[in-house]
Amino acid sequence: MTDCLFCKMVTGEITPDTVYEDEDVLAFRDINPQAPTHVLVVPKQHVATLNDLDKSNIHLVGKMMLAATAIAEQEGFAEQGYRTVMNCNADGGQTVFHIHLHLLGGRIMHWPPG
Ligand code: 5GP
Ligand code: ZN
Repeated sequence: MTDCLFCKMVTGEITPDTVYEDEDVLAFRDINPQAPTHVLVVPKQHVATLNDLDKSNIHLVGKMMLAATAIAEQEGFAEQGYRTVMNCNADGGQTVFHIHLHLLGGRIMHWPPG
């Protein structure tokens, strides 16, 4: 996907502030953080929205979640707690159409979210 912001980060065309990488997943700090730690975990494979998940790519979501728990440990808030969020399409507030998991930590989260 040549025109996808997060694909450009995966290929290195744009250099993000990377906090974690493995063969399937890249994680980097959000440019507009909503918490003391706000990391985006993305699959290296382009998947536009949660609605595009199927049997061929669903394993990526497990890899993304495992990366998030490892980063929470690395950032030092695994025990205190944190929030993970995936937004889908317009009503969900998705603005970048390459699936990503938001990892938010370092402050108390409130419910319901906005
Ligand atoms: P969404 O709204 O799609 O769930 O989340 C997209 C996220 O990408 C937002 O939190 C936004 O701040 C972040 N973002 C947008 N552009 C960039 C960028 O160029 N670099 C980084 N690191 N994050 C970005
Ligand atoms: Zn992409």
